[in-house]
Amino acid sequence: MAWRCSGHTNADLIANMHAARIITSERVKEAMTKVDRANYVLHKSEAYEDSPQSIGHSATISAPHMHAHAIEHLLDFLGPGKRVLDVGSGSGYLCAVLHHLVPGGVVVGIDHIPELVDWSKGNLRKDGLGSALDKGEIIMVAGDGRQGYSDLAPYDAIHVGAAAPTLPHQLVDQLKSPGRMFIPVGTFTQEILQVDKDKNGKVTKKELMGVMYVPLTDAEGQKSGH
Ligand code: SAH
Repeated sequence: MAWRCSGHTNADLIANMHAARIITSERVKEAMTKVDRANYVLHKSEAYEDSPQSIGHSATISAPHMHAHAIEHLLDFLGPGKRVLDVGSGSGYLCAVLHHLVPGGVVVGIDHIPELVDWSKGNLRKDGLGSALDKGEIIMVAGDGRQGYSDLAPYDAIHVGAAAPTLPHQLVDQLKSPGRMFIPVGTFTQEILQVDKDKNGKVTKKELMGVMYVPLTDAEGQKSGH
């Protein structure tokens, strides 16, 4: 699946994911079209390839089709005024897409590598989102995302971009009722879990697909290559 959606331009890449039914919603298509992936990668010549790419610090920007899957699954919980947390925000790419889906809302990105947080803010500015940062519509934080970010909790939607060995209960606690989380869980084998909290606070989990993400770990472990 990875290679077949690659394109020569950002518009091509999105159109190919739409044709492959990875993107099924017009809202997702529109939001992803507004974000130029070239602003979030180190190697611009590979910006529109449908594959992950190293962004340094043992981190990668996820493949476009994984970003699309994540947004499609969270879509019912994204809309005007909604509050979203992106754990392991890396390049800042997904925060940008999420921002376009929550007009008047707030997107918090958290990553434990301060250099990546600084780089992601520069990427967002290059992508035309400087005023969203200045107005606090996008907030990029350096910290351990396993604890979530309680200052702005609860969240309508939580996306986790790195695989947790087990489901972190702090993140479940910071989900709104109702709310939804998209999180890769596992070590040797990993699954995406969709964690739903209903309006009464009842939590249910559904396995969506097998994946391979970098681990949600401590910063020292990541620097030494785990
Ligand atoms: N979704 C991002 C990055 C994916 S790579 C993108 O597409 O650009 C996973 C990210 O998780 C890395 O940037 C890594 O630094 C971060 N990470 C790993 N463990 C973390 C933790 N405990 N707290 C916060 N961020 C973490």
